[in-house]
Amino acid sequence: MTAKGYAAHNTTDPLTPYSFERNEPGPHEVLIDILYCGICHADVHQSRNEYGHTQYPFVPGHEIVGRVRTTGQEVTKYKQGDLVGVGYFILSCGHCPNCASHEEQFCDNGITPTQNGKLPGGHTTKGGYSNCIVVNENYILRISEKLPPAAVAPLLCAGITTYSALKHNQVSAGHNVAVLGLGGLGHMAVKFAKSFGATVSVLSSSPSKTTSALALGAHRLVDTGDAAQLKTATGSFDFIIDTVSARHDYNQYLNLLKKDGTLILLGVPPEVPPIHPAMLAFRRRKITGSFIGGIEETQEMLDYCAKHNITAEVEVIQPSYINTAFERMLDGDVKYRFVIDMSEL
Ligand SMILES: [Zn+2]
Ligand SMILES: [Zn+2]
Repeated sequence: MTAKGYAAHNTTDPLTPYSFERNEPGPHEVLIDILYCGICHADVHQSRNEYGHTQYPFVPGHEIVGRVRTTGQEVTKYKQGDLVGVGYFILSCGHCPNCASHEEQFCDNGITPTQNGKLPGGHTTKGGYSNCIVVNENYILRISEKLPPAAVAPLLCAGITTYSALKHNQVSAGHNVAVLGLGGLGHMAVKFAKSFGATVSVLSSSPSKTTSALALGAHRLVDTGDAAQLKTATGSFDFIIDTVSARHDYNQYLNLLKKDGTLILLGVPPEVPPIHPAMLAFRRRKITGSFIGGIEETQEMLDYCAKHNITAEVEVIQPSYINTAFERMLDGDVKYRFVIDMSEL
């Protein structure tokens, strides 16, 4: 069947309207009409081949909310009309230890990302900047009708990435948590950490963001450009959630952790300055990382959000605005996630 979408055709030109073929759903697959798709930083980087293996034409999009149009004959979990989501990956091997323990994101045989992934037949996956997608029922999420679907879309990547990191590190009431980087990931980290009962600070060199940080539920903003404020914050946090994917110095932030505190990395900068072992040894501090979440945990997160009325802060745009949105996002000019209204394709 013919699908409509937006694609990048090379590293430099803007994304343009693009028609392509999608397979009819197989026995265990579901055809989803896409309503909304969030814009993640990975979409911009992959459009420009900054990770080095982009297959063109490239259709980005892995924060997808839509409705089931049709289902394959063997599908039991979903029916026509259901509100559903698709996140960062649409397939994994299903039988390795990590898949068996519901952590498919760490599949030993490699996940198939929703965009620019390799399917078993050799086809390259095309993502959610399109009007429809076909996905195996085991990699689809159920979405509550209670929440506005546009504001749910970013939960499928930014949401689960921060939720899983906080859950795995058992962030809870009584913890002092700092969030570095107040973008798509960072604003969800503030919301979840606050919801889990932690006291949340935002670390930023822009004190003008204080009002926004407090509106999201943060307790305060620490101005990292102010030496006096940094000194006061030294040794004060149990966790720092670092969402920054540009080059930055981890040592400055390690110094803000308590004894046994943990720096949790969610961004993957191309290179970083050396880490001083003394920053770790003398206070037994730790550095760890986290990567999206499994299907079961993503469903748990979506159900948690429906119960506690948590969504992303979004700016909904038309598909024709995608290229402008890319530029604005790189400039940090969005509160906090662009979401494309795919009904306007
Ligand atoms: Zn993403
Ligand atoms: Zn696996």
